[in-house]
Amino acid sequence: QSTTGDIRSAIRSIPDYPRPGVVFRDITTLLGNARAFRRTVDEMVQPWPGAKIDKVAGIEARGFILGGAVAHQLGAGFVPIRKKGKLPHDTVSIAYSLEYGLDEIEMHRDAIAAGERVILVDDLIATGGTATAAVDLLHRIGAEVVAAVFVIDLPDLGGAEKLRRKGVTVRTLVQFE
Ligand code: 5GP
Repeated sequence: QSTTGDIRSAIRSIPDYPRPGVVFRDITTLLGNARAFRRTVDEMVQPWPGAKIDKVAGIEARGFILGGAVAHQLGAGFVPIRKKGKLPHDTVSIAYSLEYGLDEIEMHRDAIAAGERVILVDDLIATGGTATAAVDLLHRIGAEVVAAVFVIDLPDLGGAEKLRRKGVTVRTLVQFE
């Protein structure tokens, strides 16, 4: 089986979660599968072996797990991008719209210096609302966003395309309808 086939088959699909009509792509089965987890992280960093990356920014919460492993592999630092109100020091934050209402993510103001080369990591990109907000936040503090990397792309929802239109290099490993 191909590497991405291995990754794809380790992801569990949960119908009607979190609400009727939605199929949730559950990566806990992938994380629990040693071979699939290793391959996933290897594939995520594959275009940047030896490239100088200063920081990996991971989006709460599944982006922390994958981003930590990616940072280790690249010899980079790790920076958490969190839901509002969870970080203890001075933060920069950005609001973005959800299907219903607004959400807000933030990071420590001093976590990344202007000009540092950053890779953004999350498990999945759907509408791209979360990732676009994260990229805007990183740009606002002067980071160079080298790429945004996701295990799963839901291309029908257009998020990866939206990020690419903003000039961001996007890497995704598997796609689901
Ligand atoms: P977006 O902002 O692109 O619409 O949604 C992406 C965010 O929602 C990511 O942070 C992702 O973790 C979460 N998300 C939405 N749907 C799913 C799903 O089916 N599976 C997983 N694992 N995460 C999801």
